[in-house]
Amino acid sequence: MKEEIIRLLEVSDYDYYRYLLNQDPIRKKIDEDTVDYLISKSVKCGEDEANKILGKYNNDDIFNIVKEMNLNIVFTDSSETGYYGYFEEPNKIVIYNNSIEGAFNFFEKYTDISINKEYIEKVVLAHELFHYVEYKNPNLFINTYKIELWSILKYTRRSNIVYLGEIAAMAFANKLIGKNTYSHILDYILLFNLDKKQADVFLQEITK
Ligand SMILES: [Zn+2]
Repeated sequence: MKEEIIRLLEVSDYDYYRYLLNQDPIRKKIDEDTVDYLISKSVKCGEDEANKILGKYNNDDIFNIVKEMNLNIVFTDSSETGYYGYFEEPNKIVIYNNSIEGAFNFFEKYTDISINKEYIEKVVLAHELFHYVEYKNPNLFINTYKIELWSILKYTRRSNIVYLGEIAAMAFANKLIGKNTYSHILDYILLFNLDKKQADVFLQEITK
């Protein structure tokens, strides 16, 4: 296995969540003491929503669950490969075949991890399904938690933390699929196939 992959495999979910939070545009406004709290609440938020769905749909296959929830899945090719897919309001999930293919080829070529394209599609689908859940439920922790940016006299500006939704989406996908979803490896592959230098920087950041 490539040395980079071995280092990647050693990264825990928690390490990756911490890294993601560090990327947030308003990270400087978050106290170091609050970081653990935000991660654990976001993870719980994602896991709770996954458990609700697993209970409701009897642990069915993710493809069936998404159809039962009346979401349309569109498979297409992307002109750029910076994403595996996205959720589009109100009920569409787009998955990029070429990005899935790129990830599959990477796993085949550089790792000992036995994975098929359908499994990668399931991971992406589960992640995007959370963004649908997030859109439908304004009361979720990740939607309601706001941080104070500044306060002058009676004016206070508050903002959401974008990456809490990403942390919750990954925790949701882990729970829904019930196995390793290789989230940070998949993110690394997107960069690797786009720009090897950026992928190196990413690897240094998440393994430090
Ligand atoms: Zn996402």
